[in-house]
Amino acid sequence: MNMITNHMPTAELQALDAAHHMHPFTTNNELAEKGARIITRAKGVTLTDSEGNEILDAMAGLWCVNLGYGRDELAEAAMRQMKELPYYNTFFMTSHVPAIALSTKLAELAPGNLNHTFFASSGSEANDTNIRLVRTYWAELGKPEKKVIIARKNGYHGSSVGSASLGGMKPMHAQGGLPIPDVHHIDQPYWYGEGGDKSPEEFGLERAQQLEQAIHEIGEDRVAAFIAEPIQGAGGVIIPPSTYWPEIQRICDKYEILLIADEVITGFGRTGNWFASQTFDIKPDIMTIAKGLSSGYAPIGGSIVSDEVAKVMDACEFVHGYTYSGHPVACAVALENLRILDEEKVVERAGAETAPYMRQKWESLTDHPLVGEATISGLMGSIALTPDKASRAAFAADSGTAGYICRESCFANSLVMRHTGDRMVVSPPLVITKSEIDTLVDRAWKALDQTHKRLTDEGLM
Ligand code: PMP
Repeated sequence: MNMITNHMPTAELQALDAAHHMHPFTTNNELAEKGARIITRAKGVTLTDSEGNEILDAMAGLWCVNLGYGRDELAEAAMRQMKELPYYNTFFMTSHVPAIALSTKLAELAPGNLNHTFFASSGSEANDTNIRLVRTYWAELGKPEKKVIIARKNGYHGSSVGSASLGGMKPMHAQGGLPIPDVHHIDQPYWYGEGGDKSPEEFGLERAQQLEQAIHEIGEDRVAAFIAEPIQGAGGVIIPPSTYWPEIQRICDKYEILLIADEVITGFGRTGNWFASQTFDIKPDIMTIAKGLSSGYAPIGGSIVSDEVAKVMDACEFVHGYTYSGHPVACAVALENLRILDEEKVVERAGAETAPYMRQKWESLTDHPLVGEATISGLMGSIALTPDKASRAAFAADSGTAGYICRESCFANSLVMRHTGDRMVVSPPLVITKSEIDTLVDRAWKALDQTHKRLTDEGLM
């Protein structure tokens, strides 16, 4: 067989892709008909496809390339580590320098007394760790019946059986017999979509208090933990009302429920601080991390746990671990990524300079007739598409039709935005410049115009 390279004609690559590659979250027959868009290289915030088109990646891949593409230092860190020690495990009383250095660095960066990291290769794996960890924690304290985990509808925590059970995505639960037992979902704090006539503050409080109601219904002695993303990412960049997190914190403290902040998207600068727990003043007992930890250059994730949780867990053997827990090459890449984010003040600049500029530009999209709201925290934002701004109405067509049309229009205008239902979401690399933000918003506006025209022409609004 010939070598398959970037230089092959796109159609041939697409045919091989369709013949042999099963894509995640994709109807593969539909993709085979259309042909995949093949990305061949990237630099900064710009992707290049196999046809030579340059596309502004306003999603940082899957919310992960915080540092931007094409940083040689990370490749060099990987090469150095591969030459020195490409692999060794952290089971059976052994360790290695990259895992020691990265866990030490994370203890320094993470807020409060989150000082201990259990490594995984992804956010899903880390959340699976969390399920077993919180249940083991309570069992070790003589309360094995405390095993229910409360999570939220429309939350996303991963695709493995455990993490997808924590997630509240109905289409995911419909495949493969999920959720696992002892996971309970409460409603999300999505004021724009579900708040009706209530003020955001009133609604935020009400949704947080569902946690307290659930604890009463299930029984305080049966609830192990509450897990939530500080801002729902895959659910549509849903920023909770200001009243939500303080009330959640109060309830977790009152009933001694472990609080797990899933910071897989929000960690490492996304909201303008190192962690969204700082942005929202949340004090988690466990924090899930992945994505921005290595800026996506290597697969790595983990659970950072508090001194109190570690004290209990350290006294027993946690019969749990992955071959690649603390993989030395992934750790070395993550360390180099954190060094650059830190030393080049990427996170600081994103918070102090880029985010305020982006906010002003992003919010200007509410002048578009199709946009019901524009919301943003740091560098993660979303807009809601609507046929009627005043009533925050949804489209008559299936939720997601308008969003899908808009996503395709974005691509046609050399912009990657993602859609969740009829919300469009962005999460660009933190290194995006002001002029690139101008380009992003100009292209978004054009895509919105084209979407508006198509929806009108096709009688969808
Ligand atoms: N948690 C959150 C909040 C996520 O957004 C994701 C991925 N989008 C995950 C967990 C799962 O991470 P992974 O895809 O690395 O398994």
